[in-house]
Amino acid sequence: MKNPFHVMIIPTLGCPGRCKYCWSSDETSPRMTLDTIDDIVTWLKPLEDQRVTFTFHGGEPLLAGAEFYRQAFKKITEGLPHLSPEFAIQTNLWLMDDELAEIFAEYQVPIGSSIDGPQELTNYQRGDEYFERCLAGYKIAVDHGLLVRFICTFTNSSVKQKEAIVNFFKEQGWVMKLHPALPSLKGENPNAWTLAPEEYGELLVFLLDEAIEHADDLEIMNINDLCRCVFTRAGSVCTYADCMGTTYAVGPDGEIYPCYRFIGMPEWVMGHVRNAPSIESLMESHAGKRMLAFKEFVDTACKDCAHITYCRGGCPYNAIAPTGGSLEGVDPHCTAYKRIFDEITTRLNEEMNAAPVSRVSRVKRQKKPSVTRLIQKIVEE
Ligand code: SF4
Ligand code: SF4
Repeated sequence: MKNPFHVMIIPTLGCPGRCKYCWSSDETSPRMTLDTIDDIVTWLKPLEDQRVTFTFHGGEPLLAGAEFYRQAFKKITEGLPHLSPEFAIQTNLWLMDDELAEIFAEYQVPIGSSIDGPQELTNYQRGDEYFERCLAGYKIAVDHGLLVRFICTFTNSSVKQKEAIVNFFKEQGWVMKLHPALPSLKGENPNAWTLAPEEYGELLVFLLDEAIEHADDLEIMNINDLCRCVFTRAGSVCTYADCMGTTYAVGPDGEIYPCYRFIGMPEWVMGHVRNAPSIESLMESHAGKRMLAFKEFVDTACKDCAHITYCRGGCPYNAIAPTGGSLEGVDPHCTAYKRIFDEITTRLNEEMNAAPVSRVSRVKRQKKPSVTRLIQKIVEE
């Protein structure tokens, strides 16, 4: 199955927030102009008919302002009708106001934001007033009928409070999407907040049990994605699929990268939208070749792994950005992926192979909550 085409637009790397583990903010970053949006439209016109998602990311993308979004959505929608553009945005919501919310509502833009758990914990990791300012923006967005979901970043500190964090999301009735804190490629102490792969694996198993036990009032997107991967034997989100060739990011000044995570790293520039490069020429760039080399590397490095079809070596950024592109291994979260994929597969097989025998063995089997039930729910939805 071909992966859906995805274009990430990064209007600026600037951000008014001060999250302690952030690696993508740059105060000196320029802001994207509408000329660059025109160039994006021209660049993508030759694409064959298909559905394309445009995700605005940062830095903090709302810094671009209401007029930018009013024009950008219009230009992309009217200029690329054969791509049936769908929009999304990842924002801390601090700058959300009625004018922006009305524009997002007109284009039905789902919003991803970030809250790491209860107020005190979130502000400890993300800085004073983060929680209050994010929630104020959330209220405006919801009042305009917008769908808001929160990414919860687990660090080596917050993971110790995983029960409280899950309860908090349950109480709020929020869907959780988790993100493990990554090593910073820019800071002096790159692993200060990083969640170790082993801890991440155990966290995923804990969350699997939570998602199953509270299936009626808690949804954890990653757990659904992981179960879907195992059940369909195909990657359902970019981390577990080959993203090269179908995902691109455009930085504030129009440079094209393989993904938003590479923005601001000159060695990963593939081209510039003003030159309207073909997809083939982007993949022939030095950065494009390194992404394709990772894909080939996975075929060998992961060839004996039972999960290769729906894991694909994990995220290439995690694997090759820290090494400057040299192929020294797959995604360092491999340990975590193996742990959770093994767990889901084993439980699923046990549940499917179990014959309906005596009550005693049924009781024994029911010690662990049923993965099958969760997968049924995901499939039905
Ligand atoms: S580099 Fe990683 S985060 Fe970026 S699109 Fe690929 S898998 Fe996703
Ligand atoms: S779990 Fe590890 S070894 Fe298996 S495919 Fe994923 S990255 Fe490769």
